[in-house]
Amino acid sequence: MQTKVLSAKMYVLGEWIGQEETFDVFDPQNNEIIARVPKASKEYVTHVIDQAAEAFYSISSWPTHERIQVLKKAADYIEEYHERYAYTIAREGSKTITEARGEVSRTIQTIRISAEEARRLKGETINFDQMEGSENRTGYYFRFPIGVIAAITPFNDPLNLVAHKVGPALAAGNPVVVKPATVTPLSALLLAEAFDQAGVPRGFLSVVTGSGREIGDALVSHPEIKMISFTGGVGAGDKIAEKAGRKKLGMELGSNSPVIVLQDADLHEAVKASVSGAFSAAGQNCLGVQRIFVEKNVYDEFTNMFAERTRELQVGDKQSEWTDVGPLIEEKEALRMEEWVEEAVSMGAKVVQGGKRNGAFYDPTVLIDVPHEAKVYYEEIFGPIVLIEPVEDVQEAVIRSNEVDYGLQAGIFTANIDHAFYAVHHLHVGGVMVNDSSDYRIDEMPFGGVKQSGLGREGVASSIHDMTETRVVAFKLTQPWSI
Ligand code: NAP
Repeated sequence: MQTKVLSAKMYVLGEWIGQEETFDVFDPQNNEIIARVPKASKEYVTHVIDQAAEAFYSISSWPTHERIQVLKKAADYIEEYHERYAYTIAREGSKTITEARGEVSRTIQTIRISAEEARRLKGETINFDQMEGSENRTGYYFRFPIGVIAAITPFNDPLNLVAHKVGPALAAGNPVVVKPATVTPLSALLLAEAFDQAGVPRGFLSVVTGSGREIGDALVSHPEIKMISFTGGVGAGDKIAEKAGRKKLGMELGSNSPVIVLQDADLHEAVKASVSGAFSAAGQNCLGVQRIFVEKNVYDEFTNMFAERTRELQVGDKQSEWTDVGPLIEEKEALRMEEWVEEAVSMGAKVVQGGKRNGAFYDPTVLIDVPHEAKVYYEEIFGPIVLIEPVEDVQEAVIRSNEVDYGLQAGIFTANIDHAFYAVHHLHVGGVMVNDSSDYRIDEMPFGGVKQSGLGREGVASSIHDMTETRVVAFKLTQPWSI
């Protein structure tokens, strides 16, 4: 049966717009064309930003209660069409339908939290009289929206990571221009449908589709873009930072996350959480578990239990309710898995489980004895491969964890509070999960990394903070203030 190819439109300045040039979107598991999507030109992107800026300057103040209503209605719309959103994520991306449903529920939360946080956008009073000579002054600061935000998003959470930029931008009163990943633009367009139905003011949300390499510079270097909120790989992040000039940057980049398992840990819990953390979304998860350091007394037991649980995972059709692991986003990514595993094996690594490719699918794979010079050890894998290594103690585990250029999140399993605190204080990361894997997040918490993993923090309140600027007001009174 021939699948119907969707003719998608971009959401720009309150309208659904086509373009002469288009590009195709494929289902990665069978390479079927599922949609034809408009390809925006640089000139068009410039026009969209000009118009977004005009909308911002013409609405001198978008009342908070209206922002809250738009956000709440958009969340309600997504809730009403939950399954349609999940199907789209699982169709264009590589998540299973079960994982996609989870992402839709998270998206609804992200937008509802944005609505709540819009209410809490507050300044503070300032005690000017702390300085001699300022006794008769009083004042405070406000938080103001900064202007048009450019939101550039990756393929792996094609709905919620867009919501993490759109929700806070609108909550703060900023227009936002989204450029979703070329391989997964449909979820972002569906998000725009929710905001369109919710009555977002014209120009406050646009989703332009097209290649980052072709339209990225026009987007990030436009003088009316006041902040670039980027989530993606280090390579693209560096290019964007070079072109951006003097602008605020939020960078949520890649990682190579460690998990530490000490001998006093609950091994069943550690295995369960780490298998899920390593292989959910076929390992295409910025928080995905990549290197596991296990205290040597329990290393063999942990490795056997981990391999056994990995063997039970069902790899296959994304739309099936029984599938645990879907394909990689493109076959070339599965080929990269194959190459990196072959390289590690040629250097002495052993494959305990998996190690097989079938088209865009790569089996969940467990490696041991991996030399630290192998790419799978020091680069970001972003696929279903995990390494297990024995260590002497928590100190060695922390040294190993820190010896890569990334630092997003880490996990440690232990019943010893001193060891947990040792890890919290010595791991160079943006978050430490005690008795969980690196793959834990709620949408409100400050989220982000150190080293090559990023700049700044996402999470609704943190994003709103970055998407606003303070303006100080000082009143000079005729009488001293502090009486
Ligand atoms: P990517 O290749 O870096 O692409 C991300 C976005 O950047 C896409 O929209 C892409 O457009 C665009 N882009 C590429 N080059 C650009 C340029 N020169 N100027 C402007 N935009 C440009 O990343 P991906 O493969 O989609 O996603 C995987 C990466 O994202 C991994 O490294 C992962 O760790 C990271 N990630 C990080 C987080 C986090 O929160 N820290 C979360 C999720 C993912 P095209 O699609 O058109 O190329």
